[in-house]
Amino acid sequence: MPHTAAAGRYASMTYVRSGRSGLRLPRISLGMWNNFGTTRGWDTQRALVTHAFDRGITHFDLANNYGPPPGAAESAFGRVLAGDLRHYRDEIIVSTKAGYQMWDGPYGDWGSRKSMLASLDQSLHRTGLEYFDVFYSHRPDPETPIEETMGALAAAVRQGKALYVGISNYNAEQTRAAVIALRAENIPLTIHQPRYNIFDRKPEDALLATLDELGVGCIVFSPLAGGLLTERYLEGVPPGSRAAEGRWMNSSDIGEEYLATANALADIAERRGQTLSQLALSWVLRRPEVTSALIGASSIDQLDRNLAALDAAGLTTADLAAIDEYARQ
Ligand code: NDP
Repeated sequence: MPHTAAAGRYASMTYVRSGRSGLRLPRISLGMWNNFGTTRGWDTQRALVTHAFDRGITHFDLANNYGPPPGAAESAFGRVLAGDLRHYRDEIIVSTKAGYQMWDGPYGDWGSRKSMLASLDQSLHRTGLEYFDVFYSHRPDPETPIEETMGALAAAVRQGKALYVGISNYNAEQTRAAVIALRAENIPLTIHQPRYNIFDRKPEDALLATLDELGVGCIVFSPLAGGLLTERYLEGVPPGSRAAEGRWMNSSDIGEEYLATANALADIAERRGQTLSQLALSWVLRRPEVTSALIGASSIDQLDRNLAALDAAGLTTADLAAIDEYARQ
């Protein structure tokens, strides 16, 4: 039986325009990097997507290599879409990316036109989609001319395989070069996807101001630092967590220094009537340049608790000063 989406799904979510484009994205979007593959059962994966949609999350973020194994997240999303959400395609924004190692040989990696467009076709095949709403260059390629990588994104739009284009992990200078190259193709850069959280403030150096100036939207990934800015590790390393399973984090990351910082931030959150995860989301969303916070979640409970961040009062100057004590540059 296909899923019947909740009738009130648009009541409690806010949608914000991505830069100067017409595309509106939910303030919280769901990424499918880590929990849509062999690490979670099918029922959990399916429930995460359908529940997110029921809660007004209209944007799902993929990449060719998400899983594990690489490709599994796109296949899983395609399966949920075909089985449960096929009537809702026009209510959903799906993104994917190319740029990291995906297949053997010289064309399965980085940003050549050959790699980017072959990868896009593979992603369409895995998901069963006719087009992606957003197609990204996942990372800058130091050995391919920016005009070629951006030309591949532009070609994807012209071929009807993508509606909008984005870049991820590009610094401010590389972003300017990308915008110029796309302008020559008459295609705007709609969105940038950088890493940004209380422990990683690098985008504040120059990127956020550059995006604002260029009218490019910004969806920030790992706003919870992969779980470090949540309650996940405050009382040890639970089984099934990323740190326990060594997925991009290790139990050695949960040392005394981390625990002191995380508990201090959790105290600030508690004084505001929030959890640490909610504080971390309020913090990234305080910046007017940030269109959406792109979270991961391994359970519906995590997802719901994160969505409650949208009901919180804005951060005061005193809150921000208190957080600054623990925020790393
Ligand atoms: P987060 O920082 O949101 O971390 C998500 C993880 O934090 C979850 O998997 C879970 O860990 C834990 N968590 C989330 N909510 C809670 C909660 N309320 N309580 C306790 N623990 C919680 O983001 P990700 O690092 O997962 O990245 C999000 C998305 O960003 C990705 O799916 C992807 O779409 C995108 N991304 C893009 C990159 C790029 O290069 N462009 C790189 C990385 C990510 P656990 O699984 O242990 O339960």
